[in-house]
Amino acid sequence: MSNKISILGGGESGVGAAVLATRKGFEVFLSDHGKIDPVYREVLRKNEIDFEEGGHTWDRILDARKIVKSPGIPDNVPLVIEAKRKGVPVISEIEFAAGFTTAKKICVTGSNGKTTTTMLIYSILKNAGLNVGLAGNVGKSFAYQVAENDFDYYVLEISSFQLDGMFDFKADIAVLTNITPDHLDRYDGKFEKYIDSKFRILQNMNSGDAFIYTADDPVVKREVSQREIVPVQYPVTLKQGPFERGAWLVKNKIIVKTDKKEEIMTLEELALQGKHNVYNSMAASVAANLLAIRKESVKQSLMDFESLPHRLEYVANVHGITFINDSKATNVNSTWYALEQMDAPTVWIAGGQDKGNDYSGLVSLVREKVKAIVCLGKDNSKLHEVFGDIVNKMVDVTSAEDAVEAAYQLAQKGDIVLLSPACASFDLFENYQDRGDKFKNAVKAL
Ligand code: ADP
Repeated sequence: MSNKISILGGGESGVGAAVLATRKGFEVFLSDHGKIDPVYREVLRKNEIDFEEGGHTWDRILDARKIVKSPGIPDNVPLVIEAKRKGVPVISEIEFAAGFTTAKKICVTGSNGKTTTTMLIYSILKNAGLNVGLAGNVGKSFAYQVAENDFDYYVLEISSFQLDGMFDFKADIAVLTNITPDHLDRYDGKFEKYIDSKFRILQNMNSGDAFIYTADDPVVKREVSQREIVPVQYPVTLKQGPFERGAWLVKNKIIVKTDKKEEIMTLEELALQGKHNVYNSMAASVAANLLAIRKESVKQSLMDFESLPHRLEYVANVHGITFINDSKATNVNSTWYALEQMDAPTVWIAGGQDKGNDYSGLVSLVREKVKAIVCLGKDNSKLHEVFGDIVNKMVDVTSAEDAVEAAYQLAQKGDIVLLSPACASFDLFENYQDRGDKFKNAVKAL
């Protein structure tokens, strides 16, 4: 069999895969349709990896035993279709890298809460002294770390796009936070396809493995009851329980039960507040419990956890107006949790690139909490259509600076200004970080 591996995409995951494949003795060729970031170009040069940018040389790419595709590249681009037609396996970077490590893998997926839950689990494991790596969508790619490090455990944040290219991969512990419509543009507009993709997290798991999921999520609950689930189930709930295994509340106390039952801590002691974060913290506690980490240690980590930027991040209080940056809320469900938590009249900054959003689930919260909407997007027509009759004041802007200025004018002392767009950022910004950073800078300049 040929020793050649082709890699599509020269970003974090592609370059990581290229480095790992080179270390493992493969003949590697990386190809990027666009421009490769100079930082990654340097990594490729240093590792003497052959690459091209600004286009794909089909013949050379297709002449390989495997193609590792970056998650950003859809499955329906002609080159990928041709590879599949020719019988060249197209896999994701996580799938590729998993073949070169025997570390235990704790894998987190879901529509929202992946990064937060991944970071919570990682910090608990690390604080408990485990030799643990953090990878996937956060930080350095999994492949790069498998090439460079020798961890006993990995906590991996895994997107549906990565899962689509995973076949033999097996998680030891899988966490599914929730499933709400997102990225449907990549799934032919079909929610079922996206759900199937998320459930790939369970493939190849056996009856000794563990599956932690949010039992209050209607889609997850329905799917779990209808599918054949092989690993042991650990449902997490705020509304149900007690279960045979899993996590639930008794008054304000978090109870976790795996082999033994333990009371971890009270809700008030959690560093990350908000209902959504209780789910995230509970899922993390179950994972930690399964790895036999002492509850005192779990509690300490959950108490000390520092909140992540761009996720309901407090920015400042200016003349009595509180500004909150939730730029990472790129779909309707995450914005639902943000609005749900607002405890004062709110000027809501929303909008951006719509991924096929259905805003109807937000209507009652908006009616209850939102006094004005600042629409921050190129095309705000859908927001106007849904909320125009509900909210008295709606303003359109196309920059973070103008959004902050407009919100500041609309807000009064005691109000909250919340950036929680429910949309992707790419119409006006580089990414959600750029949107959040510009928002924060504009607030600080007030
Ligand atoms: P992901 O990595 O899945 O995008 P993050 O942890 O980065 O998730 O959070 C993304 C957004 O979703 C933030 O606005 C955050 O406040 C919100 N969020 C976090 N956890 C949850 C959850 N369990 N359910 C719903 N929304 C959540």
